[in-house]
Formats: sequence, structure tokens, C-alpha cells
Amino acid sequence: MRQESPERKAELAQNLAAVEQRIDAACQSAGRNRPEVTLVVVTKTWPASDAALLRDLGVQDLAENRDQEAREKAAAVTGVRWHFVGQLQSNKARSVASYADVVHSVDRPALVDALSQGAVRAQRTLGILLQISLDGRRGGVLPQDLLALADHAVEAERLVLQGVMAVAPLEEDPAEAFGRLQGLAAQLSAVHPSASVISAGMSGDLEQAIAAGATHVRVGTAVLGHRSVPLR
Ligand SMILES: *Cc1c(COP(=O)(O)O)cnc(C)c1O
Repeated sequence: MRQESPERKAELAQNLAAVEQRIDAACQSAGRNRPEVTLVVVTKTWPASDAALLRDLGVQDLAENRDQEAREKAAAVTGVRWHFVGQLQSNKARSVASYADVVHSVDRPALVDALSQGAVRAQRTLGILLQISLDGRRGGVLPQDLLALADHAVEAERLVLQGVMAVAPLEEDPAEAFGRLQGLAAQLSAVHPSASVISAGMSGDLEQAIAAGATHVRVGTAVLGHRSVPLR
């Protein structure tokens, strides 16, 4: 109940306002218009009551990174778009396809196929982003395999290829990593013009992401606070 308190709502509102200010400022310095950037708030580990408060505060896009937690919150909190941003095993794809609106972490053909089958079964259409590995280590498709994966994805029933996603490597200047992402996104949209989304930037590096053309920033900690259980 503590989480549903007016105090929590005020805290979330204040944090949201601060994040909005950062996004505004980053858009201004990059010469971009604020509506080009969508704030996706990552609610992982926080209760569904927080997700509901965020919706009531006007947030339209929420994200999770684990199937079970995501499924429960998506059932409890309607009237928003639910994004799935975690590494995804193919055997969870059917479940994710039943509630997610956009999956940011598509990194291999088998996952494309599993999500497509799930979407067909659920009679839903899913947006997908191809997650790119910017250091060859974290989850994601390698840059040289991006266009082949995209060609596979655009053939998949009930999936709409919307663009790319990445997480900045820990050991690199995020501006440089996001610069490479922007180049890869341009290669993709040259072949598939409707794939124009760049999902990049988190609490610590959203400014660099917006400077490099991000259309979606995924922010957890700066809105909700520090997670007691650090997850990926
Ligand atoms: C947790 C998470 C985020 C949010 O990270 P913060 O640093 O808390 O803003 C963004 N993207 C992904 C893929 C995540 O797992």
C-alpha cells in the first residue's frame, strides 16, 4: 500500500518532471523537436501500483524485461503501450506476443519466428526492434548480420519491423557507441524506410542517445529510484 500512497505519486511526478527537463534540454542542444523522442519508463522490479501511477501521470509507454513480471503488470495496467526490453528465450516468445506491443530485444531469426507464431496465435500485431550488439558481447545481433536479420523479419507474419535498439557498452564512451548505432540505423532504413526507430539511452546516457538520433529512451532509475534487486 505504501507504493500507492500520494507521497509515491508526488515522488514519481517530480522525477518524471526532472527527466522531461533532461529530454527537453537534450533535444534543444541537438536541434531536435521534443515530439521526436518517446520516453519509455522501465518499471522492472517495481510494483504494478507504480506502473498505474505512472499511467495516471500521463506516461504512455512502459517497459519490462522479464516475461512473468511483464505479463502480470500488463494484465493489471491497461491503457498504455507495453514494451519488452529483456533478453528473450524462444520458449517465452508466445507469452510475450500475447501482451507486448513492441519487443526491443529481437536478435536472431529463431526469435523472429517464435514471436511471429505467437502473434498469429494471439491474433495480434507486434512491433519489433532489432537489438544490435555494439561490443560483440552483450545480447544483440552483430552489426554485419543486421541486414540479413532485417530481411528475415520483414517476411514474418504479424510482425512490423520498426527499427533498432542497443545498450551502450560499459567500457566505451556512449556518444561513440550511439554514433555507430546511428550509422547502422541509417543503413537499415535505407533498405527498409519504415524502420525508423532508434531505441537507445537509459538513465545515465539519455543525452548522448538523443544527440545520436534516438527516438526512444528507456529510463528506469531516474524515474522510479534505485532498484533494490539489480537486474541486468
Ligand atoms: C533496466 C533497463 C533500462 C533502464 O535502465 P536505467 O539505468 O534504470 O534507466 C533500459 N534498457 C534496458 C534494456 C534495461 O534492461
